[in-house]
Amino acid sequence: MSAQAEPIHDIAHLGSVELFTPQPDKSLWYFRDLLGMEPVHEAGPSVYLRGYGDYATSTLKLTAASTNGVGCISWRAASPQALERRAKAIGDAGLGLGWTNGDFGRGRSFRFRDPDGHVMEIYYEEQKYVAPPQLHSNLKNLPQKFTGRGASVRRIDHLALLAENVAANRKFATEVLGFQLREQVRFDQGKTEIGSWMSPTAIHHQLAYVVDVKGAHGRLHHFSMWVDNRDDVMRAADILTENGIFIEAGPSKHNNSQGFYLYSYEPGGNRVEIYSSSFLVVAPDWEPVTWNEEERGTGTYWGARLPDSFIEYATPNVQSKTGAPIPEILKDAIASLS
Ligand code: FE
Repeated sequence: MSAQAEPIHDIAHLGSVELFTPQPDKSLWYFRDLLGMEPVHEAGPSVYLRGYGDYATSTLKLTAASTNGVGCISWRAASPQALERRAKAIGDAGLGLGWTNGDFGRGRSFRFRDPDGHVMEIYYEEQKYVAPPQLHSNLKNLPQKFTGRGASVRRIDHLALLAENVAANRKFATEVLGFQLREQVRFDQGKTEIGSWMSPTAIHHQLAYVVDVKGAHGRLHHFSMWVDNRDDVMRAADILTENGIFIEAGPSKHNNSQGFYLYSYEPGGNRVEIYSSSFLVVAPDWEPVTWNEEERGTGTYWGARLPDSFIEYATPNVQSKTGAPIPEILKDAIASLS
C-alpha cells in the first residue's frame, strides 16, 4: 500500500490464537502455572485462556492434537460493517472459506486462509469478560485481578508465521486486511523479501511473516505474550528454568521493534515468546523501516547470536522439501525474526 492510499481500519486487533499440542495437560500447566494465564472455558479438545489484562474473554485456545503448530488465528473487526467489508474483500481475493457461528463467546465469524495456507477468521460480536468473584479486581479498569502467578503475562501481543512467499502474504495483509507495514528485511538490494512485520494497531507488530527456509506452508514460528518491563522478562526466565523448560534464546534485545525477548518451547513443542519494551507506532504516514544484509548483523541488537534452532525449527517440524542444507544467507535472515 502506498503512503497515499486511503488506509483501511476494518480490523481492530489480534483477537486470539489457537495452538495445537500433542501434550495438552503439560501445555496447560505451562500456560496456566508458569505463564500465569487464566483458563476460562473448556470445549471438546480445547481449553481457552486469557492474560489478566486482556479485555476479551479468551486470547489463547489450546487444542489437543496429534501434532503441534498453529490453528485458527482470529482478528476482531472494528464494527459489524467492517466485518462485512473485509469478508467481501477476502472473498473477492479468492481466499474465503465461509461463515461460521463463531467460536466460544463470539458471534458469526468469517473464516479464510492467508496465501500461505494459515487458517484465520474475523469476527465482531464478542461477549465481554466478567471475572468470577475470586478473580474480581479492586481496580475498576482492570478486567481481572492480578494474581501474580508465574510470569503473569498481561496480554496477547503478536505472532510470527513462516511463509514460502513472504511478499504475497505481506501484500494480502496490507492490501486486503489493511495492516500497516512497520518493518521489513530485504536482501539483494531490496529484491528479496525475507520478512515483514505488520499491525492493525499501534502495537509495533501483531503479525509477522518470515520466509520458511524449509519451503513448507502454514507453519508457526512463535506466539508472543506481553509483560510490562524487562525485569518481568528476566523473572520469567528464572521461573521457566526452575521448572525445567528449555530456553532457546534471550533474554536479549531485538533490533527490529526494539523488543526485549525470551523464547522457550512450551511442552507441546511450540515456540513461545515473552516480550516487552517494543515501541508503539501511531503515525498514519509511517514509513516502513527496511533492513538489508549488512544492517541486520546477527539479528539481535546486542547479546548472543540466535541459535541455529531459531532458524531451522518451527511447528509443525518438517524436513526440508529439497533436503538441501539451509543457505547461510537465509540463516542470517530468519535470525532477524522478532
Ligand atoms: Fe516476536
